[in-house]
Amino acid sequence: MLKIENLTVAYEVAPVLHSINLQVQEGQIVALLGANGAGKSTTLKTISGLVRPMEGSVSFGGKEITKLRPDEIVELGIAHVPEGRLVFPGLTVEENLRIGSYTQKFTQAEIKAELENVYELFPRLAERKRQLAGTMSGGEQQMLAIGRALMCKPKLLMLDEPSLGLAPVIIDSIMEKITEINQHGTTILLIEQNAHLALEVSHYAYVLSVGKVVSEGQSADLAKDKAMLAAYLGGS
Ligand code: ATP
Repeated sequence: MLKIENLTVAYEVAPVLHSINLQVQEGQIVALLGANGAGKSTTLKTISGLVRPMEGSVSFGGKEITKLRPDEIVELGIAHVPEGRLVFPGLTVEENLRIGSYTQKFTQAEIKAELENVYELFPRLAERKRQLAGTMSGGEQQMLAIGRALMCKPKLLMLDEPSLGLAPVIIDSIMEKITEINQHGTTILLIEQNAHLALEVSHYAYVLSVGKVVSEGQSADLAKDKAMLAAYLGGS
């Protein structure tokens, strides 16, 4: 579904991603692991068109999207839940959700159907639809950020560290929801610093270190490679 080839990205002069190759097969959860500063967020931002590569290409469903605008990329079916959630704090839960379908040419009935799907997945959001997003807890804001991304009916959902700053019990419930979203047919690219957690929920994984892919494989196999995990992820 997604193919990244020889991707090199630099913010100023020195590249932060060095000719990386990565693929996401339709129907899977693919994890992107790596320590702080490895280049995980930069990879997602490049797929979304928020950062332009120096070299290389990104294709989605066989079509090259490297030079498309971010809104065109969303329209094709790639949704990005950014690190730190970035919900609109002064808008209500429902207003935040509606913004998620802004780029799609949905009818009012289709928007309503998507809202119902999100409320079914996250009943907490339904209970709080009129509450200002900025007054919600961290876990609720994460649910809202995921719900907002689902409102564009993505084929590929990209999640940048959804567990960040959340209590273990909330992280477990977010991971369960990610699995549920995948089981309903959405392909997922998941950034996660907690390797144990990510390898448990994903089918396939890549390990990034200082802007390079240093390991990849079936998640169950990588989980057994303690030496590699310790070397690149501090054994987490
Ligand atoms: P983290 O888990 O800490 O977010 P990451 O693996 O997602 O790390 P990136 O955020 O992609 O890593 O950062 C990769 C490198 O690029 C880092 O050295 C970072 O300092 C640098 N970087 C990121 N964003 C910018 C920017 N806007 N301008 C300049 N350098 C940047």
